[in-house]
Amino acid sequence: VAALDRQALLSAFGPRARLDEPLSRHTSFRIGGPADAWVEARDRDEIRIVQEIAAMAGLPIFVLGGGTNLLVSDRGVRAIVLHLGRSFAQMEWRQNGDGQHVRAGAALPFKKLVTESIYRDLTGLEFAEGIPGSVGGGLLMNAGAFGGEISDVVVFIEGVDSGARMRTLARGELQFSYRRFDVEPGFIVTGMELLLRPGDPAAIIAKRDAAKRGREKHQPLGYPNAGSIFKNPAGHFAGRLIDAVGLKGHRHGGAMVSSQHANFIVNLGGATAADVRSLMEEATQRVLETYGVHLEPEIRLVGDWSAG
Ligand SMILES: Cc1cc2nc3c(=O)[nH]c(=O)nc-3n(C[C@H](O)[C@H](O)[C@H](O)COP(=O)(O)OP(=O)(O)OC[C@H]3O[C@@H](n4cnc5c(N)ncnc54)[C@H](O)[C@@H]3O)c2cc1C
Repeated sequence: VAALDRQALLSAFGPRARLDEPLSRHTSFRIGGPADAWVEARDRDEIRIVQEIAAMAGLPIFVLGGGTNLLVSDRGVRAIVLHLGRSFAQMEWRQNGDGQHVRAGAALPFKKLVTESIYRDLTGLEFAEGIPGSVGGGLLMNAGAFGGEISDVVVFIEGVDSGARMRTLARGELQFSYRRFDVEPGFIVTGMELLLRPGDPAAIIAKRDAAKRGREKHQPLGYPNAGSIFKNPAGHFAGRLIDAVGLKGHRHGGAMVSSQHANFIVNLGGATAADVRSLMEEATQRVLETYGVHLEPEIRLVGDWSAG
């Protein structure tokens, strides 16, 4: 396997390619060691160039959206990190018999899509008020809250597969479950079509405001974090279990189990991925010992976690 052709990356992407880029700059946790390279692609041809360079170097591609659901290892990631640029942040609306269809680029901030849909008196995305990150990341995580999830409104998705082919996948071909979307390895989502329905404006606003209040009440604002750390196990709330084993406010280095919501870990300043990981391990172990319930991470652990 050849080494990463650094020169090829720099000459193809200029300042949109960075070598040994610390991912702490790109994650909401403000944690994460360096990626071999970080590249912003403007269009599909540029995605193909990244795929070629990565294949020649024998490196995987890791797509990073808003970086709001990630814990990147302190050692970083042996990959080319691909970020989709602004031309993938389009939003196009079209009236159709059954409602409004929106074509959303994967890099579109989820927040913009939610705001625009509410402005248009459309129902279907009120639950997502306050979910940070990109629409692409939201799809990959099957992001949800307050009883809704993005898969409820997906019509089809489009993207580039590992063989650099453009593909469109219809809803029926997509496998979603709780905070999970199973897509073939190496598939880079570039956009999707969603279907939203006209609704009663007052009811839409009320739903959105309820989501907003729920968030303000429970979520720790002010410190970098990555949202919920664990999925809620069937029949339980992860936050309540972690609280019940006495870990609220518990610290490891610069990381702390939030004193507002025990399913959040906050970076008080200078936290390492190892700090967060050890809090996660402690929570998992204590909850398992005390309640016999296994906590499964919701955040994605990314990169090189080898010891030593
Ligand atoms: C304060 C806060 C509150 C949150 N609240 C919620 C909530 O209520 N509900 C919820 O579900 N989540 C919540 N989250 C978690 C997170 O915001 C969501 O999971 C979000 O949808 C992730 O989007 P992202 O663009 O940041 O994805 P990233 O974190 O960048 O990536 C997530 C995963 O998706 C993959 N990915 C991203 N884009 C693409 C693409 N275009 N093609 C292929 N793969 C891709 C990445 O490789 C990675 O594996 C919260 C996070 C924070 C910080």
